[in-house]
Amino acid sequence: MLRDLLIDKELFNELRQRALNSEEGENSPEEVELLEKAVFQRLKKKRSVKKYKKLGVSKGDLKEIIALADILGLDAIGGQSNYELAKEHPEWCTICGRCCRESESIFIHKDELNILLNFNSDLEKGIIRNKLYPEHYELKEIQPCKFVDPETNCCSIYNSRPQVCRSYPLVLIESNGKAKNIINLRHSCNYSVQLVLEKSIILFDEAVRRLMEKK
Ligand code: SF4
Ligand code: SF4
Repeated sequence: MLRDLLIDKELFNELRQRALNSEEGENSPEEVELLEKAVFQRLKKKRSVKKYKKLGVSKGDLKEIIALADILGLDAIGGQSNYELAKEHPEWCTICGRCCRESESIFIHKDELNILLNFNSDLEKGIIRNKLYPEHYELKEIQPCKFVDPETNCCSIYNSRPQVCRSYPLVLIESNGKAKNIINLRHSCNYSVQLVLEKSIILFDEAVRRLMEKK
């Protein structure tokens, strides 16, 4: 009910399906479900349904809002983009190192290859053609990435790391001919969980505001 005040139901279903089918975000339904559970636990503490019960708000509404926050940038309702929000909150990264230890592929765009090699000449042997997009590249040694320090979880080529590492947990994709940052939905990444939580709080408040306006 609340979500319908923010987005048309059919459009939501279409966007949701597209997001689940997207290879770029690698957001499997299982992973999305785990992330949504993690966000739900935190959102319940931030926005108690009891307070809004009189308006007909339920826990189901919270879950629907979270599902919307997974896929909708706040810029769609006049707020910050995913990029702006993530940039404003570097503290949400707990430096757990999972993204460097567990990523299934570390993508290198063909246009950044030379720049990376200029800074790290020894990287040449560590780069192979990308398996999905052969015009681009990827790091050879992953899970863990050979550049992650096992004790500190820090990156030994931090200042010249690939773009995909700089923007994590956001992933740059092309949508309708435009570049767009989506969240890589990982329940084990605090940065990702916090981003969806923050968006959920803002979307929830906006939907309640619109609901009260209607009453
Ligand atoms: S981005 Fe996420 S997975 Fe990577 S170190 Fe930060 S919290 Fe951990
Ligand atoms: S290059 Fe650095 S930031 Fe990227 S995955 Fe490896 S250790 Fe992590």
